[in-house]
Amino acid sequence: MKAHLTLGVLNGDDIGHEIVPATVAVVAAAAEKTGLVIDWKPMPIGRTALDSHGSTFPEGTIEALMGMDGFVLGPIGHQAYPKVPGAINPHPILRKRFNLFANVRPTRSYPGLGAVRDDIDLVIVRENNEGFQPDRNVAAGSGEFRPTEDTTISVRVITRAGSARVARAAFEIARQRKKKLTVVHKNTVFKLGCGMFVEECLKVAQDFPDVAVNEVIVDTMAMRLIRDPQNFDVIVTTNMFGDILTDEAAGLVGGLGMAPGLCIGEGAIAMAQATHGSAPDIAGRDIANPFAMIESGRMMVEWLGHNRNIPEAVEAARVMERAITAALADPQSRTGDIRGTASTSGMTKAIVANIANA
Ligand code: ATP
Ligand code: MG
Repeated sequence: MKAHLTLGVLNGDDIGHEIVPATVAVVAAAAEKTGLVIDWKPMPIGRTALDSHGSTFPEGTIEALMGMDGFVLGPIGHQAYPKVPGAINPHPILRKRFNLFANVRPTRSYPGLGAVRDDIDLVIVRENNEGFQPDRNVAAGSGEFRPTEDTTISVRVITRAGSARVARAAFEIARQRKKKLTVVHKNTVFKLGCGMFVEECLKVAQDFPDVAVNEVIVDTMAMRLIRDPQNFDVIVTTNMFGDILTDEAAGLVGGLGMAPGLCIGEGAIAMAQATHGSAPDIAGRDIANPFAMIESGRMMVEWLGHNRNIPEAVEAARVMERAITAALADPQSRTGDIRGTASTSGMTKAIVANIANA
């Protein structure tokens, strides 16, 4: 039987139309090399879908994704959507529908790209479906309320089950790496919410005696990421702390173009999604850094390879890693934001060309 994956392609908005096709080109080249057959399924989403289907997230898209192994999701520029019915933010729907509760965001320094140090190699696992998120369903409806014109209450949801499952995902990753896990929280102030998160993380830790665990308060973590990022391996934290710390971590290694991400859950589907937004200021100019999106796609293929036991997919991910690293090492095959001279398409072509020799 042939190794086979069905993967959705959702361009998103703005630079998504450049970096998602780049990702497909790289993954397809690696798959062809290792004998992995990929059935690519382009699906409408974002502003172009609003024009063609009357919705930024057409009904058919989510239905079709249900049967797939994973999908590449480009950045969504929902803040700039027109205020019309049908212009909705697909993110919360996707994360909940597929129960993608763990957002795995690695930060790694490559020499010569402007990283603050050359030895950063950490992964932040951000809880994806709870926390301070106004779109989250809490008992009373939305997560934000304005009981009077001059007062707003924002609700943060932390559950034992939600905390335990993201902790487990983080411990599994730590076990594959340097076996060090840092729980980031602020239980000095959020005694109940962060308190529960930490308690659950420490309970899960008992199942991973081989992983060393420590705890760091989030404000200290913000400082330590700058002072001694090399001392961290896997970090697990709640939704908004993770949102902020992952952008900070990206800044340590060359900016948002260097920040990939993979959303996973208990289900088998995986979603490749870069940390950055749709960058409308640079869209359409062939200058966006495709690394974050391409690396997210690589992580997805690797994860599916391990999860489904498809050696051809694991090997394709290895091939991509070598090809990407080689492209990053040469200023002529990397983009301007990371001290290079290549365009988006130039960097993509270079990675694809490297795959032949990787
Ligand atoms: P969001 O609210 O969706 O997170 P944001 O306001 O944080 O969006 P981004 O779109 O993430 O903004 O990007 C901020 C800036 O960083 C962009 O305007 C762009 O200049 C730069 N940037 C982001 N992604 C890339 C990339 N892949 N390559 C080069 N520059 C990028
Ligand atoms: Mg942002």
